[in-house]
Amino acid sequence: MKSVDQHLADVLSVVHALSPIDLQLAETHGCVLAEEVHAPAPLPAFDNSAMDGYAVRAADLVGAATDKPVSLAVVGDVMAGSWQAEGVSAGSSVRIMTGAPVPGGADAVVPVEWTDGGLANVVIRRAPPPGNYIRRAGEDVRAGEVVARRGGVVHATRLALLAAVGRDHALVHPKPRVVVVSTGDEVVEPGQPPRPGQIYDANGYALTALVAEAGGDAYRAGIVSDDADRLVAILDDHLIRADLVITSGGVSVGERDVVKKALAKLGTVRFERVAMQPGMPQGFGTIGPDSTPIFCLPGNPVSALVAFEVFVRPAMARLAGRLSYTPDVVTARLLSPLSAPAGKRQYRRAELSRSDDGWVVRPSGDTGSHQLAGLAAANGLIVVDEDTTQVPTDAEVDVLVLTRAGR
Ligand code: AMP
Ligand code: MG
Repeated sequence: MKSVDQHLADVLSVVHALSPIDLQLAETHGCVLAEEVHAPAPLPAFDNSAMDGYAVRAADLVGAATDKPVSLAVVGDVMAGSWQAEGVSAGSSVRIMTGAPVPGGADAVVPVEWTDGGLANVVIRRAPPPGNYIRRAGEDVRAGEVVARRGGVVHATRLALLAAVGRDHALVHPKPRVVVVSTGDEVVEPGQPPRPGQIYDANGYALTALVAEAGGDAYRAGIVSDDADRLVAILDDHLIRADLVITSGGVSVGERDVVKKALAKLGTVRFERVAMQPGMPQGFGTIGPDSTPIFCLPGNPVSALVAFEVFVRPAMARLAGRLSYTPDVVTARLLSPLSAPAGKRQYRRAELSRSDDGWVVRPSGDTGSHQLAGLAAANGLIVVDEDTTQVPTDAEVDVLVLTRAGR
């Protein structure tokens, strides 16, 4: 049997970052940058007011106080988005709004709260230090400074920064387009009454959702019966839109394990036994003219979903252009003992929570790889290494955090 680490290494040796494309800024959301972005100009681009008030010369107001107010002429108004050509000279001021450029000659802003709010003349009851409430050009970002690095994800706040420095497009790795296919004569769509022996397609929905949550563009291609020619035809149809294909079912040694039969013939897809529980049978390779990577995951839902976390998620990160991928693993104190098989890495559904002295974790009762209820309730997988068969209460264990949108 092959080790989990070896299988992941084999997968990652085949999967490469998708070629960068230049996208409109809004479309880059969630993608990984393939360029280093520099600020073409300083941010803010000009000195501007942090308050609604009056642009003044601080020297005119030295000593101003409630009992010693100073009156200045108001010679103009400057709004955000406008530009005051006339400067502020000694004894005068310009009414200014938040975000408006500070007029020449002024070196401080007096907020309206320190004044009588006058329009022709203003009475000021407090002396501003030089620079008061002025946001200086370049104090956020200097011209030429790197604002986003290659390999960084364009999340919402990074998008804000790119827009703020004026970028309307960026070179990014596109999101991986992932096609999900369920296989099995017995598998049907939820919503129709099942005939005896039929089951609903849990994997197709779960894998498609996991792909989307992992930042991919997910496409659920539906269910294919256990017919090798049909499967090859469906895969052929969808390859055009796929950077990655995921199938579930049909990879064990059963009579109808057609995924294995159909793809083993195509050459590069290998079906192996990986030393893990659940998820032992795993198929992986490439298909089609573009050597599109394909994962053939086991049909048991828990096995398929664990395999997604352990192999597919890192592969998607690689396709998406992430420079590195580290699974989200925390150390937690075990609240009840567990046993695990020798020679296999076990992933045990569990409920992870914070306590006063750190993370604690409780394995959930059910361990069958068909049992979904415990998985749906779990927010972590306890990882028990190959050499360990018994883990006592209070032992420190590694837990793979299951990040779930909406939890
Ligand atoms: P297989 O790998 O095809 O032998 O399937 C193993 C087990 O997983 C069988 O009990 C299947 O009925 C079940 N199974 C296969 N595909 C799905 C699916 N899409 N959703 C839920 N269960 C499935
Ligand atoms: Mg099957």
